Amino acid sequence: MKEQKYDVFVIGSGVAGQTVAKACAESGLKVGISDKREYGGTCANRGCDPKKVLLGATEALEASKNLFGKGIKKNPELNWKTLMAFKKDFTQAVPKSTEKKIKSLGIDMFHQSPKFINENTLSVEGKTIQAGKIVIATGYEPRELSIKGSKHLKTSDDFLNQKKLPKNITFIGAGYVGMEFAHIAARAGAKVTLIDSGKRPLKAFDADLVKELTAYSKELGIDFIFGAKITGVKKGTKNFKLTYEKKGKTESIVTKTVFNTAGRVPAISKLHLEKGNVTFADNGIDTNNFLQSTSNKNVYACGDVSDKGLPLTPLSGREGNVVANNIIEGNKKKLQVPVTPSVVYTLPNLASVGYSEEEAKSRYKNVVVNFESATEWFNAKRINAPVYAYKIILNERTGIIVGAHLIGPDAGETINLFTMAINQGMTAKQIKQTIFTYPSWSNDIKSMV
Ligand SMILES: Cc1cc2nc3c(=O)[nH]c(=O)nc-3n(C[C@H](O)[C@H](O)[C@H](O)COP(=O)(O)OP(=O)(O)OC[C@H]3O[C@@H](n4cnc5c(N)ncnc54)[C@H](O)[C@@H]3O)c2cc1C
Repeated sequence: MKEQKYDVFVIGSGVAGQTVAKACAESGLKVGISDKREYGGTCANRGCDPKKVLLGATEALEASKNLFGKGIKKNPELNWKTLMAFKKDFTQAVPKSTEKKIKSLGIDMFHQSPKFINENTLSVEGKTIQAGKIVIATGYEPRELSIKGSKHLKTSDDFLNQKKLPKNITFIGAGYVGMEFAHIAARAGAKVTLIDSGKRPLKAFDADLVKELTAYSKELGIDFIFGAKITGVKKGTKNFKLTYEKKGKTESIVTKTVFNTAGRVPAISKLHLEKGNVTFADNGIDTNNFLQSTSNKNVYACGDVSDKGLPLTPLSGREGNVVANNIIEGNKKKLQVPVTPSVVYTLPNLASVGYSEEEAKSRYKNVVVNFESATEWFNAKRINAPVYAYKIILNERTGIIVGAHLIGPDAGETINLFTMAINQGMTAKQIKQTIFTYPSWSNDIKSMV
Protein backbone atom coordinates (compact mmCIF):
# COMPACT_ATOMS: atom_id res chain seq x y z
CA MET A 1 0.00 0.00 0.00
CA LYS A 2 1.19 3.50 -0.82
CA GLU A 3 1.78 5.70 2.20
CA GLN A 4 1.06 9.43 2.38
CA LYS A 5 1.95 11.76 5.23
CA TYR A 6 -0.09 14.74 6.41
CA ASP A 7 0.13 17.16 9.30
CA VAL A 8 -3.66 17.14 9.44
CA PHE A 9 -6.21 14.81 7.89
CA VAL A 10 -9.88 15.86 8.03
CA ILE A 11 -12.77 13.45 7.62
CA GLY A 12 -15.91 15.24 6.39
CA SER A 13 -16.27 18.36 4.23
CA GLY A 14 -19.23 20.09 5.90
CA VAL A 15 -19.00 23.44 7.66
CA ALA A 16 -16.92 21.98 10.50
CA GLY A 17 -14.45 19.98 8.38
CA GLN A 18 -13.97 22.71 5.79
CA THR A 19 -13.30 25.29 8.48
CA VAL A 20 -10.51 23.18 9.97
CA ALA A 21 -8.99 22.14 6.64
CA LYS A 22 -8.90 25.67 5.22
CA ALA A 23 -7.45 27.29 8.35
CA CYS A 24 -4.77 24.61 8.75
CA ALA A 25 -3.77 24.84 5.07
CA GLU A 26 -3.66 28.64 5.25
CA SER A 27 -1.30 28.39 8.21
CA GLY A 28 1.09 26.27 6.13
CA LEU A 29 0.27 22.77 7.33
CA LYS A 30 0.02 19.87 4.89
CA VAL A 31 -3.64 18.90 4.84
CA GLY A 32 -5.72 16.08 3.36
CA ILE A 33 -9.51 15.77 3.45
CA SER A 34 -11.98 13.05 2.58
CA ASP A 35 -15.72 12.90 2.09
CA LYS A 36 -17.69 9.85 1.09
CA ARG A 37 -20.41 11.97 -0.51
CA GLU A 38 -20.49 15.20 -2.53
CA TYR A 39 -18.32 17.93 -1.02
CA GLY A 40 -19.96 20.71 1.00
CA GLY A 41 -21.77 18.83 3.75
CA THR A 42 -25.36 18.55 4.89
CA CYS A 43 -26.39 22.18 5.39
CA ALA A 44 -25.66 23.44 1.88
CA ASN A 45 -26.37 20.25 -0.08
CA ARG A 46 -29.28 18.57 1.72
CA GLY A 47 -30.20 20.48 4.87
CA CYS A 48 -30.79 24.06 5.96
CA ASP A 49 -30.30 25.83 2.62
CA PRO A 50 -32.36 23.73 0.18
CA LYS A 51 -35.06 23.41 2.85
CA LYS A 52 -35.26 27.17 3.18
CA VAL A 53 -35.49 27.60 -0.59
CA LEU A 54 -38.58 25.35 -0.59
CA LEU A 55 -39.93 27.25 2.38
CA GLY A 56 -39.70 30.52 0.42
CA ALA A 57 -42.43 29.42 -1.99
CA THR A 58 -44.69 28.22 0.80
CA GLU A 59 -44.21 31.56 2.58
CA ALA A 60 -45.72 33.21 -0.49
CA LEU A 61 -48.70 30.81 -0.33
CA GLU A 62 -49.22 31.41 3.37
CA ALA A 63 -48.99 35.19 3.09
CA SER A 64 -51.44 35.22 0.25
CA LYS A 65 -53.87 32.80 1.92
CA ASN A 66 -53.97 34.98 5.03
CA LEU A 67 -54.75 38.11 2.99
CA PHE A 68 -57.27 36.43 0.72
CA GLY A 69 -60.30 38.74 0.49
CA LYS A 70 -58.25 41.49 2.12
CA GLY A 71 -56.68 42.83 -1.05
CA ILE A 72 -55.66 39.47 -2.51
CA LYS A 73 -58.07 38.18 -5.14
CA LYS A 74 -56.49 34.93 -6.22
CA ASN A 75 -54.25 32.54 -4.32
CA PRO A 76 -51.08 31.49 -6.14
CA GLU A 77 -50.42 27.85 -7.02
CA LEU A 78 -47.24 26.00 -6.28
CA ASN A 79 -45.47 24.13 -9.05
CA TRP A 80 -43.29 21.50 -7.37
CA LYS A 81 -41.23 20.80 -10.47
CA THR A 82 -40.16 24.39 -11.04
CA LEU A 83 -39.60 24.90 -7.33
CA MET A 84 -37.24 21.91 -7.35
CA ALA A 85 -35.43 23.36 -10.34
CA PHE A 86 -35.05 26.66 -8.44
CA LYS A 87 -33.71 24.74 -5.42
CA LYS A 88 -31.18 23.03 -7.66
CA ASP A 89 -29.79 26.44 -8.63
CA PHE A 90 -28.53 26.64 -5.07
CA THR A 91 -27.43 23.07 -4.43
CA GLN A 92 -25.88 21.89 -7.67
CA ALA A 93 -23.03 24.38 -7.58
CA VAL A 94 -22.02 23.53 -4.01
CA PRO A 95 -19.81 20.44 -4.46
CA LYS A 96 -17.85 21.94 -7.34
CA SER A 97 -17.25 25.32 -5.72
CA THR A 98 -16.30 23.63 -2.43
CA GLU A 99 -13.77 21.40 -4.19
CA LYS A 100 -12.40 24.37 -6.14
CA LYS A 101 -11.75 26.35 -2.97
CA ILE A 102 -10.19 23.35 -1.21
CA LYS A 103 -7.97 22.62 -4.19
CA SER A 104 -6.84 26.23 -4.45
CA LEU A 105 -5.43 25.92 -0.93
CA GLY A 106 -3.34 22.91 -1.92
CA ILE A 107 -5.37 20.45 0.14
CA ASP A 108 -5.42 16.86 -1.15
CA MET A 109 -8.92 15.53 -1.63
CA PHE A 110 -10.24 11.97 -1.28
CA HIS A 111 -13.71 10.66 -2.02
CA GLN A 112 -14.21 7.69 0.26
CA SER A 113 -14.76 6.86 3.90
CA PRO A 114 -11.39 6.46 5.62
CA LYS A 115 -10.94 3.78 8.26
CA PHE A 116 -8.68 3.94 11.27
CA ILE A 117 -5.87 1.39 11.23
CA ASN A 118 -4.27 2.64 14.43
CA GLU A 119 -4.10 5.85 16.48
CA ASN A 120 -2.37 7.89 13.75
CA THR A 121 -3.07 5.90 10.63
CA LEU A 122 -6.00 5.75 8.26
CA SER A 123 -6.67 3.80 5.13
CA VAL A 124 -8.53 5.48 2.26
CA GLU A 125 -8.77 4.77 -1.47
CA GLY A 126 -6.20 2.01 -1.09
CA LYS A 127 -3.66 4.39 0.44
CA THR A 128 -2.24 4.44 3.93
CA ILE A 129 -2.44 7.88 5.51
CA GLN A 130 -0.14 8.87 8.34
CA ALA A 131 -1.38 12.02 10.02
CA GLY A 132 -0.09 14.06 12.93
CA LYS A 133 -3.65 15.08 13.72
CA ILE A 134 -6.86 13.47 12.53
CA VAL A 135 -10.07 15.51 12.63
CA ILE A 136 -13.43 13.77 12.65
CA ALA A 137 -16.12 16.08 11.23
CA THR A 138 -18.54 13.55 9.78
CA GLY A 139 -21.77 15.11 11.08
CA TYR A 140 -25.00 13.26 11.72
CA GLU A 141 -26.96 10.82 9.56
CA PRO A 142 -30.57 9.61 9.79
CA ARG A 143 -31.19 7.18 12.64
CA GLU A 144 -32.05 3.82 11.14
CA LEU A 145 -35.23 2.26 12.47
CA SER A 146 -34.97 -1.42 13.26
CA ILE A 147 -38.39 -2.40 11.96
CA LYS A 148 -39.51 -4.85 9.33
CA GLY A 149 -39.38 -3.26 5.88
CA SER A 150 -37.16 -0.36 6.98
CA LYS A 151 -35.53 -0.42 3.54
CA HIS A 152 -38.71 1.18 2.18
CA LEU A 153 -38.29 4.26 4.34
CA LYS A 154 -37.05 7.41 2.66
CA THR A 155 -34.87 10.06 4.26
CA SER A 156 -34.72 13.84 4.41
CA ASP A 157 -32.33 13.73 1.41
CA ASP A 158 -35.06 12.04 -0.62
CA PHE A 159 -37.66 14.59 0.45
CA LEU A 160 -35.51 17.47 -0.73
CA ASN A 161 -34.92 15.74 -4.08
CA GLN A 162 -38.31 14.31 -4.99
CA LYS A 163 -39.19 15.17 -8.57
CA LYS A 164 -42.92 14.79 -7.98
CA LEU A 165 -44.77 15.45 -4.76
CA PRO A 166 -46.69 12.30 -3.72
CA LYS A 167 -50.41 12.71 -3.08
CA ASN A 168 -50.00 11.52 0.45
CA ILE A 169 -46.99 11.37 2.67
CA THR A 170 -46.29 9.96 6.14
CA PHE A 171 -43.45 11.16 8.31
CA ILE A 172 -42.22 8.96 11.15
CA GLY A 173 -41.03 11.38 13.82
CA ALA A 174 -42.39 14.84 14.66
CA GLY A 175 -39.10 16.56 15.44
CA TYR A 176 -38.06 19.73 13.66
CA VAL A 177 -37.25 18.06 10.32
CA GLY A 178 -40.57 16.13 10.27
CA MET A 179 -42.59 19.21 11.22
CA GLU A 180 -40.89 21.51 8.73
CA PHE A 181 -41.27 19.04 5.87
CA ALA A 182 -44.87 18.31 6.86
CA HIS A 183 -45.69 22.02 6.55
CA ILE A 184 -43.96 22.32 3.17
CA ALA A 185 -45.66 19.18 1.81
CA ALA A 186 -49.11 20.08 3.14
CA ARG A 187 -48.96 23.57 1.65
CA ALA A 188 -47.71 22.13 -1.63
CA GLY A 189 -50.86 19.98 -1.78
CA ALA A 190 -50.00 16.60 -0.20
CA LYS A 191 -52.11 14.87 2.44
CA VAL A 192 -49.72 14.57 5.37
CA THR A 193 -49.64 12.33 8.43
CA LEU A 194 -47.07 12.62 11.21
CA ILE A 195 -46.56 9.65 13.53
CA ASP A 196 -44.60 9.96 16.75
CA SER A 197 -44.02 7.75 19.76
CA GLY A 198 -44.28 10.74 22.13
CA LYS A 199 -47.31 12.65 23.34
CA ARG A 200 -46.59 15.75 21.28
CA PRO A 201 -44.28 17.04 18.56
CA LEU A 202 -41.06 19.01 19.20
CA LYS A 203 -40.25 17.80 22.71
CA ALA A 204 -37.42 20.30 23.12
CA PHE A 205 -39.71 23.30 22.60
CA ASP A 206 -42.18 25.06 24.90
CA ALA A 207 -45.29 22.92 25.36
CA ASP A 208 -47.75 25.86 25.30
CA LEU A 209 -46.42 27.23 22.03
CA VAL A 210 -46.15 23.77 20.48
CA LYS A 211 -49.84 23.33 21.31
CA GLU A 212 -50.62 26.39 19.18
CA LEU A 213 -48.43 25.08 16.36
CA THR A 214 -50.06 21.64 16.50
CA ALA A 215 -53.54 23.16 16.36
CA TYR A 216 -52.62 25.31 13.37
CA SER A 217 -50.92 22.35 11.66
CA LYS A 218 -54.19 20.43 11.98
CA GLU A 219 -56.01 23.34 10.32
CA LEU A 220 -53.57 22.94 7.43
CA GLY A 221 -54.83 19.37 7.11
CA ILE A 222 -51.93 17.58 8.82
CA ASP A 223 -52.98 14.48 10.79
CA PHE A 224 -51.06 13.54 13.92
CA ILE A 225 -50.81 10.09 15.48
CA PHE A 226 -49.11 10.24 18.89
CA GLY A 227 -48.06 7.48 21.28
CA ALA A 228 -47.54 5.13 18.33
CA LYS A 229 -44.73 2.62 18.05
CA ILE A 230 -44.00 1.75 14.43
CA THR A 231 -43.69 -2.00 13.91
CA GLY A 232 -43.28 -2.42 10.16
CA VAL A 233 -43.64 -1.14 6.60
CA LYS A 234 -44.93 -3.34 3.81
CA LYS A 235 -44.82 -2.54 0.12
CA GLY A 236 -48.06 -3.03 -1.77
CA THR A 237 -48.65 -2.62 -5.50
CA LYS A 238 -49.16 1.14 -5.32
CA ASN A 239 -48.83 2.07 -1.68
CA PHE A 240 -47.07 1.22 1.56
CA LYS A 241 -48.78 -0.15 4.62
CA LEU A 242 -47.38 1.20 7.85
CA THR A 243 -48.18 -0.78 10.98
CA TYR A 244 -47.96 0.58 14.49
CA GLU A 245 -48.96 -0.24 18.03
CA LYS A 246 -50.98 2.23 20.02
CA LYS A 247 -52.43 1.59 23.48
CA GLY A 248 -51.80 -2.14 23.07
CA LYS A 249 -53.64 -2.35 19.74
CA THR A 250 -52.12 -2.95 16.32
CA GLU A 251 -53.22 -0.36 13.77
CA SER A 252 -52.11 0.61 10.28
CA ILE A 253 -52.27 3.30 7.65
CA VAL A 254 -51.81 3.18 3.90
CA THR A 255 -49.61 5.80 2.33
CA LYS A 256 -47.82 6.61 -0.92
CA THR A 257 -44.47 7.44 0.69
CA VAL A 258 -42.94 7.13 4.16
CA PHE A 259 -40.10 9.32 5.37
CA ASN A 260 -38.00 8.46 8.37
CA THR A 261 -37.65 11.73 10.27
CA ALA A 262 -37.11 9.99 13.60
CA GLY A 263 -33.92 11.81 14.46
CA ARG A 264 -30.27 11.82 13.51
CA VAL A 265 -27.24 10.11 15.03
CA PRO A 266 -23.46 10.63 14.83
CA ALA A 267 -22.06 9.37 11.48
CA ILE A 268 -19.28 7.17 12.82
CA SER A 269 -20.16 3.60 11.88
CA LYS A 270 -17.74 3.37 8.93
CA LEU A 271 -14.68 4.81 10.65
CA HIS A 272 -13.51 1.81 12.73
CA LEU A 273 -13.05 4.13 15.70
CA GLU A 274 -12.08 1.27 18.02
CA LYS A 275 -8.91 0.71 15.97
CA GLY A 276 -8.02 4.39 16.43
CA ASN A 277 -8.75 4.22 20.16
CA VAL A 278 -11.43 6.91 19.81
CA THR A 279 -14.25 6.55 22.30
CA PHE A 280 -17.78 7.81 21.75
CA ALA A 281 -21.25 7.80 23.27
CA ASP A 282 -24.76 8.14 21.81
CA ASN A 283 -24.38 11.92 21.36
CA GLY A 284 -21.02 11.74 19.58
CA ILE A 285 -17.28 11.48 20.04
CA ASP A 286 -16.07 11.97 23.61
CA THR A 287 -14.14 15.23 23.63
CA ASN A 288 -12.58 17.56 26.20
CA ASN A 289 -13.04 21.36 26.16
CA PHE A 290 -10.41 21.63 23.40
CA LEU A 291 -12.57 19.29 21.29
CA GLN A 292 -9.80 16.71 21.47
CA SER A 293 -10.72 13.05 21.80
CA THR A 294 -10.50 12.07 25.48
CA SER A 295 -8.96 8.72 24.53
CA ASN A 296 -6.64 9.61 21.61
CA LYS A 297 -4.80 12.95 21.81
CA ASN A 298 -4.02 12.86 18.07
CA VAL A 299 -7.71 13.10 17.24
CA TYR A 300 -10.11 16.06 17.37
CA ALA A 301 -13.83 16.07 16.63
CA CYS A 302 -16.00 19.01 15.67
CA GLY A 303 -19.46 19.85 14.35
CA ASP A 304 -22.51 17.67 14.92
CA VAL A 305 -20.37 14.56 15.48
CA SER A 306 -18.66 15.92 18.62
CA ASP A 307 -20.42 15.41 21.92
CA LYS A 308 -20.64 19.20 22.50
CA GLY A 309 -23.35 21.75 21.67
CA LEU A 310 -26.52 21.45 19.63
CA PRO A 311 -26.31 19.87 16.16
CA LEU A 312 -26.71 23.16 14.29
CA THR A 313 -24.71 24.81 11.52
CA PRO A 314 -23.52 27.91 13.40
CA LEU A 315 -22.11 25.75 16.20
CA SER A 316 -20.36 23.46 13.72
CA GLY A 317 -18.50 26.45 12.30
CA ARG A 318 -17.57 27.64 15.78
CA GLU A 319 -16.29 24.17 16.74
CA GLY A 320 -14.29 23.95 13.51
CA ASN A 321 -12.57 27.22 14.43
CA VAL A 322 -11.72 25.96 17.91
CA VAL A 323 -10.18 22.77 16.51
CA ALA A 324 -8.19 24.64 13.85
CA ASN A 325 -6.86 26.99 16.53
CA ASN A 326 -5.87 24.15 18.83
CA ILE A 327 -4.09 22.26 16.06
CA ILE A 328 -2.21 25.33 14.82
CA GLU A 329 -1.26 26.84 18.19
CA GLY A 330 -1.41 23.88 20.55
CA ASN A 331 -4.38 23.48 22.86
CA LYS A 332 -5.12 27.07 23.83
CA LYS A 333 -8.75 27.61 22.90
CA LYS A 334 -11.56 26.07 24.91
CA LEU A 335 -14.97 25.74 23.32
CA GLN A 336 -17.29 28.38 24.73
CA VAL A 337 -20.88 27.80 23.72
CA PRO A 338 -23.00 30.92 24.20
CA VAL A 339 -26.75 30.69 24.74
CA THR A 340 -27.85 29.36 21.35
CA PRO A 341 -31.21 29.92 19.63
CA SER A 342 -33.03 27.29 17.64
CA VAL A 343 -35.87 27.59 15.16
CA VAL A 344 -38.42 25.30 13.65
CA TYR A 345 -39.07 26.68 10.18
CA THR A 346 -42.72 25.80 10.07
CA LEU A 347 -45.12 28.60 9.19
CA PRO A 348 -45.49 30.16 11.66
CA ASN A 349 -41.90 29.77 12.87
CA LEU A 350 -41.38 28.44 16.36
CA ALA A 351 -38.23 29.81 17.97
CA SER A 352 -36.56 29.44 21.31
CA VAL A 353 -33.53 30.65 23.25
CA GLY A 354 -32.40 30.34 26.85
CA TYR A 355 -34.20 28.55 29.66
CA SER A 356 -37.54 26.84 29.34
CA GLU A 357 -40.18 27.78 31.90
CA GLU A 358 -39.42 24.60 33.91
CA GLU A 359 -35.64 25.15 33.84
CA ALA A 360 -36.00 28.79 34.91
CA LYS A 361 -38.33 27.88 37.78
CA SER A 362 -35.90 25.27 39.07
CA ARG A 363 -32.97 27.69 38.80
CA TYR A 364 -34.30 30.98 40.21
CA LYS A 365 -36.30 31.67 43.35
CA ASN A 366 -38.91 33.75 41.54
CA VAL A 367 -39.49 34.12 37.83
CA VAL A 368 -41.90 36.21 35.80
CA VAL A 369 -43.50 34.37 32.91
CA ASN A 370 -45.12 36.57 30.27
CA PHE A 371 -47.18 34.18 28.17
CA GLU A 372 -49.66 35.85 25.82
CA SER A 373 -51.21 35.60 22.42
CA ALA A 374 -50.41 38.63 20.26
CA THR A 375 -52.66 38.09 17.25
CA GLU A 376 -54.45 41.32 18.11
CA TRP A 377 -51.25 43.35 17.83
CA PHE A 378 -50.86 45.55 14.76
CA ASN A 379 -48.01 43.53 13.20
CA ALA A 380 -50.05 40.34 13.15
CA LYS A 381 -53.31 42.04 12.20
CA ARG A 382 -51.90 43.90 9.19
CA ILE A 383 -51.05 40.58 7.52
CA ASN A 384 -53.92 38.72 9.17
CA ALA A 385 -51.47 36.25 10.76
CA PRO A 386 -53.45 33.48 12.45
CA VAL A 387 -50.83 32.63 15.10
CA TYR A 388 -48.59 34.98 17.08
CA ALA A 389 -47.70 34.31 20.71
CA TYR A 390 -44.78 34.54 23.09
CA LYS A 391 -43.50 33.30 26.40
CA ILE A 392 -40.77 35.44 27.90
CA ILE A 393 -39.14 34.43 31.16
CA LEU A 394 -37.44 36.90 33.49
CA ASN A 395 -35.56 36.52 36.74
CA GLU A 396 -37.91 38.53 38.98
CA ARG A 397 -35.16 39.76 41.33
CA THR A 398 -32.91 41.23 38.62
CA GLY A 399 -35.30 41.79 35.73
CA ILE A 400 -32.83 39.93 33.48
CA ILE A 401 -34.32 38.01 30.57
CA VAL A 402 -33.45 34.30 30.89
CA GLY A 403 -35.64 32.64 28.28
CA ALA A 404 -37.64 33.59 25.20
CA HIS A 405 -40.02 31.42 23.22
CA LEU A 406 -41.87 32.79 20.20
CA ILE A 407 -44.34 31.57 17.64
CA GLY A 408 -45.32 33.72 14.71
CA PRO A 409 -44.22 35.18 11.39
CA ASP A 410 -40.47 35.72 11.30
CA ALA A 411 -40.00 34.44 14.85
CA GLY A 412 -36.79 32.89 13.50
CA GLU A 413 -35.45 36.42 13.04
CA THR A 414 -36.90 38.07 16.13
CA ILE A 415 -35.40 35.38 18.37
CA ASN A 416 -31.94 36.72 17.46
CA LEU A 417 -32.70 39.93 19.38
CA PHE A 418 -33.52 37.88 22.45
CA THR A 419 -30.35 35.86 21.90
CA MET A 420 -28.28 39.04 22.06
CA ALA A 421 -30.23 40.29 25.05
CA ILE A 422 -29.75 37.05 27.00
CA ASN A 423 -26.07 36.70 26.12
CA GLN A 424 -25.50 40.32 27.19
CA GLY A 425 -27.47 39.85 30.42
CA MET A 426 -29.95 42.56 29.44
CA THR A 427 -32.94 43.48 31.59
CA ALA A 428 -36.52 44.09 30.53
CA LYS A 429 -35.96 47.78 31.35
CA GLN A 430 -33.02 48.02 28.93
CA ILE A 431 -35.08 46.49 26.15
CA LYS A 432 -37.93 48.88 26.83
CA GLN A 433 -35.54 51.85 26.64
CA THR A 434 -34.29 50.83 23.19
CA ILE A 435 -35.66 52.55 20.10
CA PHE A 436 -36.46 50.07 17.34
CA THR A 437 -37.89 50.67 13.88
CA TYR A 438 -41.68 50.91 13.76
CA PRO A 439 -43.78 49.04 12.73
CA SER A 440 -41.59 45.95 13.03
CA TRP A 441 -41.49 42.59 14.76
CA SER A 442 -38.43 43.84 16.65
CA ASN A 443 -40.39 46.69 18.16
CA ASP A 444 -42.91 44.18 19.55
CA ILE A 445 -40.33 42.74 21.91
CA LYS A 446 -40.64 45.87 24.08
CA SER A 447 -44.22 44.86 24.83
CA MET A 448 -43.26 41.23 25.46
CA VAL A 449 -40.74 41.76 28.28
C1 LIG B 1 -33.07 18.40 6.63
C2 LIG B 1 -32.14 19.17 7.53
C3 LIG B 1 -32.40 20.48 7.82
C4 LIG B 1 -31.55 21.21 8.64
N1 LIG B 1 -31.84 22.51 8.91
C5 LIG B 1 -31.02 23.23 9.71
C6 LIG B 1 -31.29 24.62 9.95
O1 LIG B 1 -32.29 25.17 9.49
N2 LIG B 1 -30.41 25.30 10.71
C7 LIG B 1 -29.29 24.71 11.25
O2 LIG B 1 -28.51 25.39 11.93
N3 LIG B 1 -29.02 23.40 11.04
C8 LIG B 1 -29.86 22.67 10.27
N4 LIG B 1 -29.57 21.34 10.03
C9 LIG B 1 -28.37 20.76 10.67
C10 LIG B 1 -27.13 21.16 9.92
O3 LIG B 1 -27.23 20.71 8.58
C11 LIG B 1 -25.90 20.52 10.62
O4 LIG B 1 -25.86 20.99 11.94
C12 LIG B 1 -24.60 20.89 9.92
O5 LIG B 1 -24.63 20.56 8.56
C13 LIG B 1 -23.45 20.16 10.61
O6 LIG B 1 -22.24 20.44 9.98
P1 LIG B 1 -21.04 19.41 10.11
O7 LIG B 1 -19.91 20.01 9.34
O8 LIG B 1 -20.84 19.04 11.52
O9 LIG B 1 -21.56 18.08 9.40
P2 LIG B 1 -22.11 17.85 7.93
O10 LIG B 1 -22.51 19.11 7.25
O11 LIG B 1 -23.16 16.80 8.07
O12 LIG B 1 -20.85 17.29 7.15
C14 LIG B 1 -20.33 16.03 7.41
C15 LIG B 1 -19.72 15.49 6.14
O13 LIG B 1 -19.04 14.29 6.48
C16 LIG B 1 -19.28 13.33 5.46
N5 LIG B 1 -19.12 11.99 6.04
C17 LIG B 1 -19.93 11.34 6.89
N6 LIG B 1 -19.41 10.13 7.20
C18 LIG B 1 -18.24 10.04 6.53
C19 LIG B 1 -17.25 9.03 6.44
N7 LIG B 1 -17.37 7.90 7.07
N8 LIG B 1 -16.18 9.27 5.64
C20 LIG B 1 -16.08 10.43 4.93
N9 LIG B 1 -16.99 11.42 5.00
C21 LIG B 1 -18.06 11.22 5.79
C22 LIG B 1 -20.68 13.61 5.00
O14 LIG B 1 -20.88 13.13 3.69
C23 LIG B 1 -20.74 15.14 5.08
O15 LIG B 1 -20.40 15.75 3.87
C24 LIG B 1 -30.39 20.59 9.19
C25 LIG B 1 -30.12 19.25 8.90
C26 LIG B 1 -30.98 18.54 8.08
C27 LIG B 1 -30.68 17.11 7.77
